[in-house]
Parts: sequence; C-alpha cells; structure tokens
Amino acid sequence: MKKTCERCGRDAILDIVIDDSTEVCGHSFTASMPATRCAACRQVVVQAEQVKRFERRIAVELAKAAVRSADGFRFLRTVLEMAQPGLAELLDVPVEYVHYWEAGKWPVDPRAMAVLASLTLGRFDGQHASLDCLRVLRMPRKLSAKVRLHLDDGGQGAKGWRFGDTPRKVPATA
Ligand SMILES: [Zn+2]
Repeated sequence: MKKTCERCGRDAILDIVIDDSTEVCGHSFTASMPATRCAACRQVVVQAEQVKRFERRIAVELAKAAVRSADGFRFLRTVLEMAQPGLAELLDVPVEYVHYWEAGKWPVDPRAMAVLASLTLGRFDGQHASLDCLRVLRMPRKLSAKVRLHLDDGGQGAKGWRFGDTPRKVPATA
C-alpha cells in the first residue's frame, strides 16, 4: 500500500481505526474500521472495500431481522448489486412490482423479501446460508435502534454472527 497522501502528497500516512456510523431503515449502525489519516493535512481515508464490508454486515442484520420495508428491500438489493430487472426476473414478477415495493406504493411481498434475505445471508453470512427465511419473517429477531457491528470478529468464519443476544434461538435449518 502506498503511504503517500493523495491530497497533499506528503509521506505522513498513519494507520488508524475509526468508528463509523450510518443510518439504515431507522437503525443506527456503528462499526470500527481501519482507515488512514495524513498527519500533515489530516485527511482521513476509508478504503471502499471497508465501506462495502460494513454495508454487507448491515444487510445481514436487516435480513436476519426480516426488516420488510421499502428501504430495507432496496438496501439489500443494492448491496447484492442486483439490478431491478434482474431481481424481478428471479422473482418471476414484472419489474414494476419491484418499483412499487421500493417506492412504498405496495407493501413488500413477504416471499420476495424472503428470497432477497436468503440471497443476502447466503452470500454474506455463509454460516446461516440455509436459514429458513420464511420462518425468520414470521419470528424476526429484534433489531435495536442502535447497533454496533464488529467487522473483524471472525468475518465470514466460524465465530462470525451470533444470535446470542436475543432470547430466541436461530430457527432450525430444516
Ligand atoms: Zn495529506
């Protein structure tokens, strides 16, 4: 990694850890993530890949909590990098349906949400890839107003995501 500041060009880049917060679907998500700061001009840079990791973790939380809202649906679709027509095709519905759901004109179809949540968990939370998302929709995990995420806590690995904080257990995986 190049250690010269993009802004001032000086050789004064320090590795730091910052707390970043973002609001999605009425929940404030916070995570610590690695970044760099220029000791000369103080510019802080977070690598795009770190932001993506953060968004993926948020998507996993929303999927597990079965947040079935226009914003939640759009957020998951965007993090999955799926275009509206592609998702409509996968769901076997006209693309207008996706427009209506994301615009809040229609309530998001629970089956469509389940498919999207399942794709999200399968892709970014391998441990629970076989989670029964329809069942999660019927007994969603409670999601706090403020959520702290730990990006380095095992990643996709064995210790990654726990349901430990919730009174409910993970729904059986069939
Ligand atoms: Zn600088």
